[in-house]
Amino acid sequence: MDVSGIQNPLDVTAAIKKLAREKKALILAHNYQIAEVQDIADHTGDSLELARIAAKNDADMIVFCGVYFMAESASILSPEKKVIIPDPEAGCPMADMVGPEDVMEMKAIHPDAQVVTYINSSAAVKACSDVICTSSNALKIVERIDADKIIFLPDKNLGSYVQRFTKKTIIPGKGFCPTHEKFTREDLIAVKRMHPDALVMVHPECRPEVVDMADKVFSTGQMVEFAARTGVKKIIVGTETGLIHKLSSVAPEIEFIPATGSFICPNMKKINLDVLHTSLIEEQTVVTVDPLVREGAGRALERMLELSY
Ligand code: SF4
Repeated sequence: MDVSGIQNPLDVTAAIKKLAREKKALILAHNYQIAEVQDIADHTGDSLELARIAAKNDADMIVFCGVYFMAESASILSPEKKVIIPDPEAGCPMADMVGPEDVMEMKAIHPDAQVVTYINSSAAVKACSDVICTSSNALKIVERIDADKIIFLPDKNLGSYVQRFTKKTIIPGKGFCPTHEKFTREDLIAVKRMHPDALVMVHPECRPEVVDMADKVFSTGQMVEFAARTGVKKIIVGTETGLIHKLSSVAPEIEFIPATGSFICPNMKKINLDVLHTSLIEEQTVVTVDPLVREGAGRALERMLELSY
């Protein structure tokens, strides 16, 4: 609820901008946020891009419009800044599917393996990992890390996608993104039938049988880059529909078709302009990471930066 009582969306927008200026706050929005939040943000991008922007910026406060683990990553990379998330209930079900105890258990079963953890994970899981990866650098990290056996957490679909391109043994976690998992082969067949002339690009968090049918398999950042340079006229987008706002802004001449109407992450849609406004007024909710956890997670994130040169 907006505690200011402002009703007009234009007034809310102006009030957010004024408050952000006064408080030296930088507003970051993930590519899956609603259009109004993306439009008011200083930067939009994927979780790692945004965490890096937060670390390089000299703002006093970072307002992270995304899900909790993303705000945690920003806090890990810039511990001196006040990082706030407008809705602390905006979690990531995939990140919650694997806890630190699962990592320790898998390490005990496979003592010769190294742990590569997708950035979509809690700070506590990152802290027990050898290295972090993103969907765009996962294969590179797996290839460059000094081990033939890799415990890959938490996303079983991204793990299985990486396994297609490496001779190393991937031991996948049990996690998955419910939003991407819901998109089935049958859904893809149906949308392709309606748009036979469209190129299909999907995120590697999708099911393997969906990945099999796609023309391109891209991270969100790679989708945006591809859209900006391709001559293709029509693209079916196999990821959260919020990305279409960004894709349309970089390539307005392309027709982007959501792969299914249900490609919506409810957690990514918890933040709206009123929620953002209230969080700026109250400077809530502050995201902090325990110093010991931060040290371990920071080490694993640094390792990723070293290996993904
Ligand atoms: S889209 Fe999936 S991975 Fe991303 S925040 Fe939502 S549940 Fe988590």
